[in-house]
Amino acid sequence: MTHQIELSGVNKYYGAYHALRDIDLKIRKGSFVALVGPSGCGKSTLLRSLAGLESISAGDLIIAGERMNGVPPRKRGIAMVFQSYALYPHMTVEENLTYSLRIRGVKKAEAKKAAEEVAATTGLSNLLHRYPRELSGGQRQRVAMSRAIIRHPKAFLFDEPLSNLDAALRVHMRKEIRSLHDRLGATSVYVTHDQIEAMTMADHVVVMRQGVIEQQGPPLELYDRPVNKFVAGFIGSPAMNFIPAKVGADGRSLVFELGNPQFVTLDRPLPTASKLIVGLRPEHLRLVQEGDAQIRLPVGVVESTGSMTYITSATTPEINVVVTDRQPLRSGEMMSLGFDPAHLHLFDTDSERRIDIAG
Ligand code: ADP
Repeated sequence: MTHQIELSGVNKYYGAYHALRDIDLKIRKGSFVALVGPSGCGKSTLLRSLAGLESISAGDLIIAGERMNGVPPRKRGIAMVFQSYALYPHMTVEENLTYSLRIRGVKKAEAKKAAEEVAATTGLSNLLHRYPRELSGGQRQRVAMSRAIIRHPKAFLFDEPLSNLDAALRVHMRKEIRSLHDRLGATSVYVTHDQIEAMTMADHVVVMRQGVIEQQGPPLELYDRPVNKFVAGFIGSPAMNFIPAKVGADGRSLVFELGNPQFVTLDRPLPTASKLIVGLRPEHLRLVQEGDAQIRLPVGVVESTGSMTYITSATTPEINVVVTDRQPLRSGEMMSLGFDPAHLHLFDTDSERRIDIAG
C-alpha cells in the first residue's frame, strides 16, 4: 500500500501549550481525508504542519517517501487551497492561474498552455478572461482549486474552504471538490468543523479533540462503532441521545434514568458495570403502539419540515426522535418508543469509552 503522507509520533507545542499530541496518521495515495473536530482541537495546526507553515516539535513527517520535517513549504510539493476570496482581484482568471508559474520563471506561452489545460478540467475554459468579481462563488472556488492544480502538487490541503459560502452553494461545492479530486486522482486533506462535510466528502475521517486523534476510519465505521462518547456525539445529526442507565438485577436489562425509571429488557448479557451511558441515535428510535413500547416519554416539542418530523421529549435529559412520516403528536401527550437493540450503544460513565455487548 502506498502512503502519500505519513505522520508518526507528531507533537507540536506553542510555547507551553501542547497543540498536537502523538499524532499517527497514514494517508493513502488517492484518498480524501477529512480532519474534523470542534474549534481549537488542532486541525489547522496539523494541516499547517503538513504544509510547512508550522514546524513540528517532535515526530516524523514523510511526504511521498521523503522526510519533510525541516523542508520549507515551497519545496514540499503540496498545495494549500484557501477560501475563494484569496484570488488576486486585479488579475484575470488566466493571470491568477499562471501567476505561480510565472514567478518561477516558466515562459509565458507555456504557462498559458498549462492554464488552458487546467481550465478544461475544471470547466473554466470560457472564463479565463474574466476578473474574480465577474464570477459566481462556485466559479471562484474552482479558480482557487485550479491555481493549486496547475502546480501538480503531491497533495492538496484544504482549510475550511467552504465556510464563507451559503448553504446551497456549500452542498454544490462539496460535490464539485470531491469529483475534481476523483478526476485528478489527487490526494487531499480537508479541514472542517462540519461533520456532515467530513462524512460526505471523505473516505477516511479523522476526529480530533484537544490535540488528540480520538478515532479515525471510514465515515460509516465512525457512525456505526464510535469508540467513545465524544465521537458518538460528534458524528451524526441530530446528535446521538445519551441516557444514564443502570444494569437491572437480572443482568440482561437496563433501567434508563429519564425522570421515571424506564425498564428496558434487552435479553442479552450486559456488562457488570453498575452505571452506564446508553447512546441511541434519534433516527434509530421509532414510534410504536403502546403495547410494544420499550420506553414511554412525554412529548415536548414537535417540529415538521415536511419530509421529517423532529420530536423532543419533555424529560431530562431531552430525547430527540427523528421520523420520516408526519405525526399528529402534541406537546404533553405520551409517546411510545421502540428501537432495535442492535442500534444501542453503551459507554462507561467514567471513562466514556465504548462497551461492546454480545449480539
Ligand atoms: P482548529 O483549527 O481545530 O480550530 P487550531 O489548530 O487553530 O485549532 O488551534 C489549536 C490550539 O492551538 C488552539 O487552542 C489555539 O488557540 C492554539 N494555537 C494555534 N495557533 C497558535 C499560535 N500561533 N500560538 C499559540 N497558540 C496557538
